[in-house]
Amino acid sequence: AEDSISTTKEISPETIEQIQNIKKLNSQMTMQEVRKSLPIFPYREELIQAVNDYQVLIIVGETGSGKTTQIPQYLHEAGYTKRGKVGCTQPRRVAAMSVAARVADEMSCKLGQEVGYSIRFEDCTSEKTVLQYMTDGMLVREFLTTPDLSNYSVLIIDEAHERTLHTDILFGLVKDIARFRPDLKLLISSATMDADKFSQYFDDAPIFTIPGRKYDVSTLYTQAPEANYVDAVCVTVLQIHVSEPLGDILVFLTGQEEVDTVAEMLQQRTRGLGTKIKELVITRIYSTLPTDLQAKIFEPTPENARKVVLATNIAETSLTIDNIIYVIDTGFCKQKIYNPKSGMESLVVQPCSQASANQRKGRAGRVAPGKCFRLYTAWSFENEMEPNTTPEIQRTNLGNVVLLLKSMGINDLVHFDFMDPPPAETLIKALEQLYALGALNDRGQLTKLGRKMAEFPVDPQLSKMIIASEKYQCTDEILTICAMLTVNNTIFYRPKDKAFQADAAKKTFFHPEGDHLTLLQVYNQWRETGYATQWCFENFIQHRSMKRAKDVREQLEGLLERVEIPITSSADDTIAIRKAITSGYFYNTAKLEKSGLYRTNKTNQSVQIHPSSALFDAPPKWVVYFELVLTTKEFMRSVIEIQPQWLFEIAPHMYKQSELETESDKKKLPKVMGKSSTSK
Ligand code: ADP
Ligand code: MG
Repeated sequence: AEDSISTTKEISPETIEQIQNIKKLNSQMTMQEVRKSLPIFPYREELIQAVNDYQVLIIVGETGSGKTTQIPQYLHEAGYTKRGKVGCTQPRRVAAMSVAARVADEMSCKLGQEVGYSIRFEDCTSEKTVLQYMTDGMLVREFLTTPDLSNYSVLIIDEAHERTLHTDILFGLVKDIARFRPDLKLLISSATMDADKFSQYFDDAPIFTIPGRKYDVSTLYTQAPEANYVDAVCVTVLQIHVSEPLGDILVFLTGQEEVDTVAEMLQQRTRGLGTKIKELVITRIYSTLPTDLQAKIFEPTPENARKVVLATNIAETSLTIDNIIYVIDTGFCKQKIYNPKSGMESLVVQPCSQASANQRKGRAGRVAPGKCFRLYTAWSFENEMEPNTTPEIQRTNLGNVVLLLKSMGINDLVHFDFMDPPPAETLIKALEQLYALGALNDRGQLTKLGRKMAEFPVDPQLSKMIIASEKYQCTDEILTICAMLTVNNTIFYRPKDKAFQADAAKKTFFHPEGDHLTLLQVYNQWRETGYATQWCFENFIQHRSMKRAKDVREQLEGLLERVEIPITSSADDTIAIRKAITSGYFYNTAKLEKSGLYRTNKTNQSVQIHPSSALFDAPPKWVVYFELVLTTKEFMRSVIEIQPQWLFEIAPHMYKQSELETESDKKKLPKVMGKSSTSK
């Protein structure tokens, strides 16, 4: 990496001056002046005219041109909100929140009043709200309560190019309601990709293009593949910092852990640089980062300093950070992959697509010519990266979405108007799993249980677990566990300089029967302190995550009331709790083998307990796991110990007696049974 970087051509002094001028100009401009300076502004009238003229419009423009923040405001100013709300979907929670906050600012109103947002478990809207940003998943759920979406006069399906599962489902749903709601306006907006495809899908809807400003970005590849891209990122950042003219850096990494690691490494390494080197302001952005820290990436860089933003793909198109001159691209991203044969879903770090890489590169050329440092070879770009990212619908479990569609009365999923259909196998697997959970009957129709499950905005296994907790008289505990699982990986706080104390503190919560019960203990102890911040601080627990869990829990409790399930507590009966969990997760079981590894029963995979688990040091024979994560190995994250007999009681349709026996069980069984039960 070092060679290729040091041979790069310098950014000219004129460019630097240009950047400084733009920065100065920006900081002196009022917000209204900034609005007028966006590339979309000259097209305001034309755009409103096009919306008047056509029911469906495809809008294409470079990231940062003002689509997300400006179009809803233009429509509001043009009177569209007189007969309903303008809804604008975002694939990511963070984007929905951050953009809504920005627009509220621009309209000088309080967030949640005229401008609001709604994301899962968080509704920041009011009766006054006319511009509503939301996640695509939230809009899909709105079809359950108001199938014609009569509250809306305009729907904007934004960031359509991201092709998330819910955005793809929305395409089919909104296309359908547009037919019988001629008054509804539909805008499909995307970065400069796939416009023709969107147009074709929406019956040749016209494409409105916003010409963007774009400067040249020179691309620099490494000469040889990087053995460790995290380290290469640090080296590259520091090289830019000491040898390139001022200008902010945006780095693309794959996840929170990497972002935090690089942040810490950079902090350490800049300490030793001495006072001659300018200040390096290190900021981070990822979806689970608390909101106030997220806002930091938008803060102007102090004079004579350089900002580096360490980001996940969230900064690829959803969020625009001004004044980025340098982009460092690791060429990787974390992606969900799904194997419909085994029903196994896992998150894996993979090379990103060429389209992604180019999008990342483009982030450097918004205000001036920039440079993109690709930490991979030109050869890998050409040969190892797919041209485009596969739409999520083709690489994810569809259980959730199938349940929702069934609840909307959409039974014939094979003929649903998918832009790109999911593999038939995946659909079948989803139907099978919902059937196994009892959400569908043998004719594929929604059952009473399925209808109840659909009320909960969580995965079918979780909603099944919640509903099953009625039977085991432990709804109180299960609600807590479910809420805690939604913030699962952000509960324990582990600063590098106090890692030892943090680990010790965490161990005190460990429950010998598993991680779900550990989570329950954390929450209950916190509850006993009256939800004290100090307690969290002393125990290396993130108060913010706990507060969020509390919010989620309250909402789940409300939903439980709606399906008329009373609150019951099993107190210390952990068997009841573990049985309720197993009722949702009986598909996710694994058995310890002689080798010391586990083998999943239904997917026949060799897996291990994640080192963060309470059961890591004392692995039980049988476990139920919450999820699989693929890093260096295939790990089960969040596991509980179970007795195999429970499976026979809870999911007799999934397990045969012979599968459930352990060696020691066999010895205990009467001879007759021992023989007959070995046959399958
Ligand atoms: P697009 O949707 O076309 O990518 P946006 O409407 O998101 O463009 O962005 C337009 C401008 O608004 C960008 O210059 C961006 O920097 C600015 N902006 C968006 N969100 C924020 C925010 N939270 N804080 C400051 N500026 C923002
Ligand atoms: Mg946008």
